Amino acid sequence: MSDVLVTGGSGMVGSALKELYPSAKYLSSKEYDLRSSIETRLAFQEHRPRYVVHLAAKVGGVKGNSDFPSDFFTENSMINTNVIDCCVKYNVKRVVSLLSTCVYPDSEHATYPLTEEQMHAGPPHESNFAYAHVKRMLEVHSRAARKQHGLSYACAIPNNIYGNNDNYDLENGHVVPAIIRKVWEAKHKRKDVHLWGDGSPLREFTHASDIARALLFLLWTKTDFHGMVNIGTTQEHSIKEIAKKIAKELGYSGNIIWDADMPSGQHRKPSSNAKFIELGWEPNTYLSIDDGLKQACDWFKNNYPYVRGVENSG
Ligand code: NDP
Repeated sequence: MSDVLVTGGSGMVGSALKELYPSAKYLSSKEYDLRSSIETRLAFQEHRPRYVVHLAAKVGGVKGNSDFPSDFFTENSMINTNVIDCCVKYNVKRVVSLLSTCVYPDSEHATYPLTEEQMHAGPPHESNFAYAHVKRMLEVHSRAARKQHGLSYACAIPNNIYGNNDNYDLENGHVVPAIIRKVWEAKHKRKDVHLWGDGSPLREFTHASDIARALLFLLWTKTDFHGMVNIGTTQEHSIKEIAKKIAKELGYSGNIIWDADMPSGQHRKPSSNAKFIELGWEPNTYLSIDDGLKQACDWFKNNYPYVRGVENSG
């Protein structure tokens, strides 16, 4: 039996980690609902992990976060509290959890690029304030557990993640999978593509396989590091630029129409990876955005319509 337990193992990042490190135990919500303290304890009792990678979360895009903030708050608070409490109770040697750059303060309270010590410096952006506060509390809980119980932990902060096995639900998915699906379906229906916002926001995008490598680096190599660290690429791309790249990759030559009445989220939130590099991470090993998007589009083409979030999927 493996001594590494991965919560959220059936999701996009979990699947990327499984490719790199297949021998861990990968959990899905079907086996244990981590909102339940009893089921979380059962998971730890049954698997007795020495190492935990905590990925499980209710995850959504701008619209899901703004329509259901209370659900995002409650479910993610319960999952995180249960998992960190069990890491303490079952003497886990090290836990690496995934946060998100949405934890950072909105622009008027932040200095760019975003550095880790700014996390609690002001309120997060209104569009996902509930999810962002819960991610902040995961850092607070981990830090408190270190102080009181000596828990060894790292909170990794990724920016936008994309890759294989993403969620292509149009209401709840993130920007890259939503654009891939819309472009592909528009191509086949010979229609225009309608995208949310005006396409001007700038974002950093990191492929899930790079996130998986970064998590293992923090789990195995930097075992003496306790704290939070940005782990994503630091190259910004406008949503418009990403849409054009995806359209090219999927062979779509129709119109892309921007619906400025739909939410766009923050204009930009560039992150600093200086701390990660200081820890020994090689920044030039990230997949380029072109190669990463090609992989993501190829995976989608090969699996459509049997992909998460598409109605007639398997
Ligand atoms: P996915 O939505 O692909 O996967 C979420 C995972 O969490 C699934 O394995 C899901 O299980 C599991 N899960 C959800 N609810 C529960 C529950 N109640 N009990 C047990 N397991 C549960 O997410 P990603 O892989 O994209 O995200 C992984 C982590 O990265 C998350 O913590 C997320 O907040 C963070 N992150 C993601 C970003 C992104 O762009 N995708 C950006 C920044 C951070 P099941 O398959 O059974 O539903």
